[in-house]
Amino acid sequence: MRPINKASIAHSDVYSACSKSIRDQTTSRKLINNIPLTEKTQVDYDKLAKKSNFLTHVKTNQYGNLSNVELTKIYRNTFIKSAKTKDIISTIKTRSPHGICPICGANAAKTLDHYLPESIYTHLILLPENLIPCCGDCNKYKSSHTPKSYEQQTLNPYYDHHYNIRWLHASILPTKPIVFSFKALPPLSLEEKRIIRIEHHFKKFKLDDTLSIFASNELGTRKYELKNTKITSGADGLRKSLYESAESAAHHQINSWQTAAYEAMAMSDWFIHHGIDQEEP
Ligand SMILES: [Zn+2]
Repeated sequence: MRPINKASIAHSDVYSACSKSIRDQTTSRKLINNIPLTEKTQVDYDKLAKKSNFLTHVKTNQYGNLSNVELTKIYRNTFIKSAKTKDIISTIKTRSPHGICPICGANAAKTLDHYLPESIYTHLILLPENLIPCCGDCNKYKSSHTPKSYEQQTLNPYYDHHYNIRWLHASILPTKPIVFSFKALPPLSLEEKRIIRIEHHFKKFKLDDTLSIFASNELGTRKYELKNTKITSGADGLRKSLYESAESAAHHQINSWQTAAYEAMAMSDWFIHHGIDQEEP
């Protein structure tokens, strides 16, 4: 998970923009009348999110003047499609540096995920803080996941910056072709509930499946150059170069797949002495 900064968009501005896009005067008025409520919802959500306390949100069937059915319709038919809300969506999506999904750190963040699922917490369907840019795969894997405990909450890129400690690791399997295996290995000094939460996050998003593909492709791209490094600088020179790549990646993103993959290559005696020289199918 890559921490990102949330956009400064007022919940009320989303309602206001949607109300200007809707032809039906009754629904448009309902959106305007809901504005005082949206301000309170935004403040309350932010307070709870800062404590990673998303569990206390209560499912509702009605939000002020608007029913869940009306809210869902407004999100799908107006918020996502209207020219008046285009800038809001673009501002949220561009919170993710270089357009990379903050969850997997690999695919392009082309979708918006409701951190608390829209099907259950429909009153939060238009709340900017509840909309996280992410890739289609991560969005699909999380789906309408509803945590029942602190540990089951997936990491939130806006609020869980204190989870930006090294926990993503990889190892190399001595196979042909070479396979990278990714694991969530948080430091044991961490509180148990935080360790379990990281492990749950890793499994929920099937990160091993996604990241091993990216790591294998990266090795394919750099293999010729790495083999030449071994020829000119020896096994120790190759190891040093791989550690430098891991260090450089860690400076950029501590839990990136690149940090883990280069470290795995540098740490593997089998890779340095044999794997790098084997012909890949
Ligand atoms: Zn993703």
